[in-house]
Amino acid sequence: MESINKFKIQLEKIEKEIEKEVIGAEKTPELGDEVDPDIETQETQEIDNRLSVAQVLKSRLVEIKNALQKIEEGRYGICEKCGEEISEDVMDIVPESRLCKNCKKLSNV
Ligand SMILES: [Zn+2]
Repeated sequence: MESINKFKIQLEKIEKEIEKEVIGAEKTPELGDEVDPDIETQETQEIDNRLSVAQVLKSRLVEIKNALQKIEEGRYGICEKCGEEISEDVMDIVPESRLCKNCKKLSNV
């Protein structure tokens, strides 16, 4: 793939951004000394939300790292299912794509 460098730069940029976001999401604010149970519940929910956001970010990070690994190994942009080249417009939208359009459609991801 000719534009592999473009995707590498893109992936590294996304990787850094997500790492930053994960740190931000996991940095749980100190629970206040609120005696009001309603406010305390709100704070606990807020922490729960942050942690599930962090979870989503982390699984994307795994995909990004996997894609960067594939660039190193020269397997980037190749569908993991059928071995065909993944079209560039797919990679433009999701640079860490593992599957080509057809396989993605079939596996319903
Ligand atoms: Zn495929």
